[in-house]
Amino acid sequence: KEGLSKSTQRITQSITNLFVKKKLDQKTLDELEEVLIQADLGVPVAGRLVENLRRTRFEKEVTDEEVRGAFADDIAQILTPVAQRLTLDPGRKPHVVLVVGVNGSGKTTTIGKLAKQFVEDGRKVLIAAGDTFRAAAVEQLKIWGERAGVPVIAKATGADAAGLAFEALEQARAQGADVLLIDTAGRLQNKTGLMEELAKIVRVMRKLDSSAPHSCLLVLDATVGQNAHNQVEVFREMVAVDGLVVTKLDGSAKGGVLVALAERFQVPVVAIGVGEGIDDLRPFDAKQFARSLMG
Ligand code: GDP
Repeated sequence: KEGLSKSTQRITQSITNLFVKKKLDQKTLDELEEVLIQADLGVPVAGRLVENLRRTRFEKEVTDEEVRGAFADDIAQILTPVAQRLTLDPGRKPHVVLVVGVNGSGKTTTIGKLAKQFVEDGRKVLIAAGDTFRAAAVEQLKIWGERAGVPVIAKATGADAAGLAFEALEQARAQGADVLLIDTAGRLQNKTGLMEELAKIVRVMRKLDSSAPHSCLLVLDATVGQNAHNQVEVFREMVAVDGLVVTKLDGSAKGGVLVALAERFQVPVVAIGVGEGIDDLRPFDAKQFARSLMG
């Protein structure tokens, strides 16, 4: 009986292999490369992954599982150096975090989530509603501030954002805050205006603290795909971006663009957004992300 079940197993396995095991030929490699490019991993990464596979497994029998495993390993290697945390400089009171990104990327939401995390870590947090242009943005930020239990410093619509940032920093200092999170405008359609506004915020804050801001996070919406490259380039021209938060990685988002960005810009990814709720911000785990990307 034992023997029979064993041979049954062998037959089943052999039949399965007939369908899933196949010799890795050039045509399959080309198709795989196309799949990776379609998933926003970018031409350089797709090329590198497929070349590694060709080198180690060309003309050998491979299963789809092995291919995905090999890709996941390579992707994890690309992502590991950029998987970092947002660490607060304990010498700064407050540590100033400037948050930039286009409208709709998830800046407001991310600030709310970050505020909550810092509060849970026992930090005293202040938020500055630096997107003074959009009344709705300020209202939204106030709601997030309430959720996180953090005061939001705001001014009337149209107020000078740099002036607000300056006052917020003064207040944060006076109150002994550990962290000041500053929201900013995201009107990329007026690039010159936005650039001047961000530069002025930095310049004015430096009158109080010559090393401010101590972190500058760019919030990117993962669902914009290749467009994210352009956003990184544009914002890096404006401010010294030293961290990315990639949002909307829940749902149907093609997270592949994150791999392309890591390979191209090597900017740390300090957190990822995985939902609309206040607790939906996660540290970026390179291995886990690579594995989930490859199913
Ligand atoms: P802002 O204009 O950059 O401040 O963007 P918001 O924070 O207002 O976010 C724009 C929209 O994206 C809102 O509907 C948010 O609920 C949504 N959003 C932000 N982050 C995430 C995320 O990680 N996952 C999902 N599914 N939605 C998000």
